Amino acid sequence: TLQAVGISAWFGNHKVLQRVSLTMSAGGVTALIGPSGCGKSTFLRILNRMHELVPSASLAGEVLLDGRDIYEQGRRITETRRRIGMVFQKPNPFPAMSIADNVTAGLKLTGAKASRSAKLDLVEQCLTKAGLWKEVRDRLRQPGGALSGGQQQRLCIARSLAVRPDVLLMDEPCSALDPTSTRRIEETIAELRAEVTIVIVTHNMQQAARVSQQCAFFLAEDGAPGEIVEAGPTEVMFANPVDPRTEDYVNGRF
Ligand code: ATP
Ligand code: MG
Repeated sequence: TLQAVGISAWFGNHKVLQRVSLTMSAGGVTALIGPSGCGKSTFLRILNRMHELVPSASLAGEVLLDGRDIYEQGRRITETRRRIGMVFQKPNPFPAMSIADNVTAGLKLTGAKASRSAKLDLVEQCLTKAGLWKEVRDRLRQPGGALSGGQQQRLCIARSLAVRPDVLLMDEPCSALDPTSTRRIEETIAELRAEVTIVIVTHNMQQAARVSQQCAFFLAEDGAPGEIVEAGPTEVMFANPVDPRTEDYVNGRF
């Protein structure tokens, strides 16, 4: 379980998030929705300490992974990044590296030594989970950059899975993809849900409804920092939201 507690965030003195709290439970998919600029990506990046890579960035609050703050003094950032993976809008495999080596690229992060055959097993296992194995099993030595966009995105998912993360953060993972690839990724998400906590940012309300069990609606009103207006079970958020702004947004009136 990943828990954000009272997260506020700034770039310089521009406040972009205001006291955001959200619990993302194991075994479920949480969708983050809301208009452009309301802080969804910033929030996602805070969840695996990518936020602190921006020199002007600062934050308040806590991010608890199984009860322990990932920002706690002395906690190793590499271990946090291993446990909390990220997939981006634009697929970013290492283009010149082989498909197989792309999958195992993150193992350096864990410091684990794996034999050649253990690595091959891992490649098959992760590509299978990402729904890509059948398409690439005969071309594992080809460069990652030779795959289609949708295949590259599934390769990136396989790469994230290779280090056995507890959480997978996905920032609009399908917005650069065609409908068929999008469906493949959604199927992958449904299968991974049992073993990985998934948090997905999406502008596609149908997708949020299809893949998530929990939804959080972010809004930044009139230049104010982004806040969660409403969060809860996806069914309730779509069929019976409490806040009229949620109702307007999920029905496309924003
Ligand atoms: P979108 O749906 O368009 O991706 P978003 O909800 O993901 O939007 P963010 O990218 O989190 O929004 O941006 C939230 C606010 O933080 C915006 O006002 C943005 O300009 C600001 N911001 C984001 N990244 C930075 C940065 N590196 N430096 C300064 N300001 C930033
Ligand atoms: Mg974004």
